[in-house]
Amino acid sequence: MELTQSVILYPSLGMGHLIPMLELAKLFVDHGFSVTIVVLDSPPSDTSSTVDSFISRASSSYPSISFHRLPKVAPPVSELPIVFLSETVRLANDNLLDFLSSMKSTSDIRAVVLDMFCSASLDVVEELRLPSYFFFSCSAAILATCLFFPTLQSQLAGSIRDLGSSPLHFPGLPPIPASDLPTNVQVPGESNDAALAHFVRLPRADGIMINTFESLEKRAVRALVDGACVPGSAMPPVYCIGPLIADGSDGGEGGERHECLAWLDAQPERSVVFLCFGSMGSFSTEQLKETAGGLERSGQRFLWVVRSPPKDPAIPFDQPRTEAELEDLLPEGFLERTRERGMVVESWAPQAAVLAHRSVGGFVSHCGWNSTLEAVCSGVPILGWPLYAEQRMNRVSLVEEAKVAVAIEGCHNGLVTADEVETKIRRLMESEALAERMAATKERAVAARMEGGESTLALLELVTALRKPTPATGA
Ligand code: UDP
Repeated sequence: MELTQSVILYPSLGMGHLIPMLELAKLFVDHGFSVTIVVLDSPPSDTSSTVDSFISRASSSYPSISFHRLPKVAPPVSELPIVFLSETVRLANDNLLDFLSSMKSTSDIRAVVLDMFCSASLDVVEELRLPSYFFFSCSAAILATCLFFPTLQSQLAGSIRDLGSSPLHFPGLPPIPASDLPTNVQVPGESNDAALAHFVRLPRADGIMINTFESLEKRAVRALVDGACVPGSAMPPVYCIGPLIADGSDGGEGGERHECLAWLDAQPERSVVFLCFGSMGSFSTEQLKETAGGLERSGQRFLWVVRSPPKDPAIPFDQPRTEAELEDLLPEGFLERTRERGMVVESWAPQAAVLAHRSVGGFVSHCGWNSTLEAVCSGVPILGWPLYAEQRMNRVSLVEEAKVAVAIEGCHNGLVTADEVETKIRRLMESEALAERMAATKERAVAARMEGGESTLALLELVTALRKPTPATGA
């Protein structure tokens, strides 16, 4: 009996990883593969209800995509985010092995696609002799950084933090201030070790898919393809198949259209600035008040997603929080005074649908890569306000390479003032040059995914590689 050709996708924790993996799943389904997304649950998490509702909506909208939830594992000891994440994946490896073994007996697995943060599962995939791929859900520039990082670190005498804002040189990138690197790689220790373990596993895969399009990041893609990022080692094929972004067509949870979209319907074209900081970003009450002050004084219409502050400000994301009343978080009378021209939404808005709305003309963003691609695909210029992980580096690429963003200053340490928020929001909403450059970038993004476009061709090349007869199947 001929077995179904299937692809297994394994995203890491967090909506920012799950959303693009679903988009990737749809592409494989379109090419005739049977697709299963393996879902890892965060041991203790307040985001699981968002994940639950996402999976239930995706399952009913795309019945040909299966979801398999791995049994929950015990919480790892370390609370350091990257260590916690890597450990969770490692602890789930036995469950993954069981699942893949049973799948292998009933289907012809053509690829197991891992998120980079699931790289600890590469051993499982290799043990089962299955083709392994990574889906890199950040930019090509960040992939270049990750791959080159072990080389860079071996050349440095001290820690990256000691270099302050001195420029670091990575193949295919503009100079990056050392202080813009993710904090977890700046100093030796457990987090650095965990990150490095991911980086060195990347070239072991049979191929790496990147959620980008080549013409957005020409120099970085060239450095990857040339092997400049892994001097002395072999570089697997790289496939730029993006931009893969959330399909914002439903515009809300469970098919209900979110009330903020109805509010946007009533606003003039490109008049609204949208503020949203990813699935995990949040600010102190003091920062929320400064932001509100700047926003109010800018005089712009706004839609702002506000999340209550983290319990422990030292860990700015992904920790349980209690929802505070919006009135307690914002300056007194702010909601009342701005009622005519602003809307504040608590915790979550259907971002892709918001950005695609004709009324939105600017996006204040933490520069997460999915948010960046969603803005690009909607042609909405960005005011970059990075918070954690690789977001400061994305801001450098957006401001200096693609030139589709302006940057907020002062977010490195301490507070961004209301003055800065006001000035930069005005610049964001008033700069015609910025809007034109973003509109041109959008055109290129759309063209990339059309028939004959650069990303469509890269995907075809990958699918052809996956369909090749293997000695095991002889098929
Ligand atoms: N998102 C959303 N509504 C929110 C916050 C986030 O729909 O209120 C989505 C957003 O559209 C994007 C993802 O969550 O697809 C966030 O991914 P990103 O890579 O930008 O940031 P992360 O959450 O990983 O920091």
